[in-house]
Amino acid sequence: MYVKQPKLLEVKGLKKHFNVSEGFFKREKKYLYAVDGIDFFVKEGETLGIVGESGSGKSTTGNLIVQLIDPTEGQIIFDGVDLTTLSKKELRRKRADLQLIFQDPYSSLNPRMKVFDLIAEPLRTHQKLSSEQLHNQIVELMELVGLNPIYMNRYPHQFSGGQRQRIGIARAIALHPKLIVCDEPVSALDVSIQSQILNLLVKLQKELNLTYIFIAHGLPVVKHISDRIAVMYLGKIVELATKEQLFKNPKHPYTEGLMAAIPIPDPMLRDSKNEQLIEGDIPNPVNPPRGCPFHTRCKYAVDICKDELPVFQEKEKEHFVACHLVNKQ
Ligand code: ADP
Ligand code: MG
Repeated sequence: MYVKQPKLLEVKGLKKHFNVSEGFFKREKKYLYAVDGIDFFVKEGETLGIVGESGSGKSTTGNLIVQLIDPTEGQIIFDGVDLTTLSKKELRRKRADLQLIFQDPYSSLNPRMKVFDLIAEPLRTHQKLSSEQLHNQIVELMELVGLNPIYMNRYPHQFSGGQRQRIGIARAIALHPKLIVCDEPVSALDVSIQSQILNLLVKLQKELNLTYIFIAHGLPVVKHISDRIAVMYLGKIVELATKEQLFKNPKHPYTEGLMAAIPIPDPMLRDSKNEQLIEGDIPNPVNPPRGCPFHTRCKYAVDICKDELPVFQEKEKEHFVACHLVNKQ
């Protein structure tokens, strides 16, 4: 079968349960269910957005994919290989193809290193370059991300937040990765700078043929950049669809709530029905609710939602949802 956009990444049954047992003897094992059984794929060249409230497991998902942390269970099939089965040495080679752009450009860069060394670090680790080659690469990378190479001997604190994020982006693209996980890359930046960084990421994606997983806590940011969007809640994906389908026809009550949380500038355009935001707080992931993880806050919840976990199923082409009420339709 001819597949126009092959899958670059496929995640199956992925779980990360952090051991949060208390007490010296840790007799009572306690786990925090940060990521609790998620399935999705990312096609080559696309951007998959992941949205959800703080604490829903987005960063943990990103960290699992780039191999910063090990999964409790599940498969991460990247470029045809299950990363969870690789030896440390094999993984090290693969790691160059998988990069992460951090949320906070202030704490993610070593303050004692000059820009040159910050960007050179991944190149020195993975490639053997002469000092002239290295210098040329740094100049090229700085220009590519919109930094003037004359500043290569400056330290991170001598740059603005937006410029620091450009340094983080230069580090991430230095090894020509295939996939970059962008973990809320503009959340810590001034609103005026956010679109510049988003535009840079879009430009680099085209020029370097990159695939992105783009994490954000709200829909407005991912709407701009994503081809498809996954909505996470309490360690699970509750809905996943193309951007167009998700905005036109959100099926999960949580997605509906996130949509309502998007401020509409003109009050006359507000639909009063949509005014109802999601009430209450996200439950503690150490004691997640039985049944559907969202039932404690869902205005449509019925008995079955309290007892049974809804299946994550494809309701329409490429439109997946996990909700008893939608599944019954
Ligand atoms: P998000 O990025 O969506 O805000 P995270 O993936 O950072 O969510 O966190 C999901 C849950 O996992 C949160 O409850 C968080 O406190 C917890 N968590 C994250 N990292 C760790 C860790 N290393 N040890 C214990 N709990 C963690
Ligand atoms: Mg996060």
